[in-house]
Amino acid sequence: MTTGNDQICFLSSKDFASASTTAVIASWKICPSSVTTDSLHIDSNFSSFFPNQGILERLNEGVVIGDGGFVFALEKRGYVKAGPWTPEAVIEYPEAVKQLHREFLRAGSDVMQCFTFYASEDKLENRGNKAAQHGVGAVNEAACKIAREVANEGDALIAGGMCQTPTYLSGGNKETVQIEFQKQADAFVKCGVDFLICEYFEHVEEATWAVEVCKKTGMAVAATLCINDEGDMHGVSTADCAVKLANAGADIIGINCHFDPDATLAGIREMKRGLDEAGLKRHLMSQPLAFKTPDVNKQGFIDLPEFPFALEPRILTRWDCHRYAREAYDLGVRYIGACCGFEPYHVRAIAEELSKERGCLPAASEKHDMWGGGLQLHTKPWVRARARRDYWENLSPASGRAESSAFSKPNAWGVTAGDDLLKQQKEATTLAEISNLAGRS
Ligand SMILES: [Zn+2]
Repeated sequence: MTTGNDQICFLSSKDFASASTTAVIASWKICPSSVTTDSLHIDSNFSSFFPNQGILERLNEGVVIGDGGFVFALEKRGYVKAGPWTPEAVIEYPEAVKQLHREFLRAGSDVMQCFTFYASEDKLENRGNKAAQHGVGAVNEAACKIAREVANEGDALIAGGMCQTPTYLSGGNKETVQIEFQKQADAFVKCGVDFLICEYFEHVEEATWAVEVCKKTGMAVAATLCINDEGDMHGVSTADCAVKLANAGADIIGINCHFDPDATLAGIREMKRGLDEAGLKRHLMSQPLAFKTPDVNKQGFIDLPEFPFALEPRILTRWDCHRYAREAYDLGVRYIGACCGFEPYHVRAIAEELSKERGCLPAASEKHDMWGGGLQLHTKPWVRARARRDYWENLSPASGRAESSAFSKPNAWGVTAGDDLLKQQKEATTLAEISNLAGRS
């Protein structure tokens, strides 16, 4: 089956700006990592793109595009509950998880992150959550199986992921916290993931404990904190956080979640400075939010009054993702991915922006010409007039909400690991507790 390549230009965004929007029809290649075997043809020249390489070899060679946003995306689709944010959908609705993986693969993701966010046993049973009935091993192994099945439809890797634990937030010591990580690591070893990602840590101390457990598996380990350039929630500077992660053994270091691309890259710039000054060389990784967050404090978007059910007016456009991808690449980040709010079309924009560097386009570009090129086919002339880069690149979208302000006033409780208010429990939260908390805000 052919790919309909008579409608798709293989052009970088820079090329497109100077090209005729009608005359340039070039041959193009689909990134093998994003090819679904049953529907698309792989050009033989590119079948060796990332041949059987692990994550570190791929990063040494070029840019790797991540996936992202599973809890937020699947919550909106009706398969994840906001609040616990746990991933029991891998057992309850495996087809829904598989479909989202496929869409990210098609959009250009080189890594399928197993949907194991918050799948530590203590989180699966926190505050009345019933997800623990499935068992921590079963949840993590089911997630692996789904990710591998889809990854094998292209040339993607799978990564086992683990994140911060209720045990740590409640003041648990290193031994008790590492027991939680070990249960997840055992499942990832058993099912044979390609590498591990320790992500979404507000405290570098806990992240280093996770990295230590992961390193014992012998696999490559990525570690990302959910911080900006102001340091972690215990006051460790962002530069020092990077050095601590490197010294714990992390091979790939960066930031995910909690902040928009601008703040995420500002934090990574600090991490890079810290690593450079310490004489340490590590790959850099960014997986930001797809929400604009210029008004947040160091706790990030969870302090916004709109979190998590009214964030939509802040969502990035695909054009914002082009800018993010370019700025991350220019900063030296080579693992460029995504977190909450990102949908597959955002990732496609990253892959399209970096198509020149990667020498290929994602499979989903079959239905998307860069910089609005597809609008050349529109019936209305004023819409056809938008088939150009400078239109979309310079547009400032309206929110359509008369009472909407540009910024919100974040909550600022300043409660973090070690505080009584952050102690977790197995018992469900009571209405009396909610009433007390509401009185404080
Ligand atoms: Zn996130």
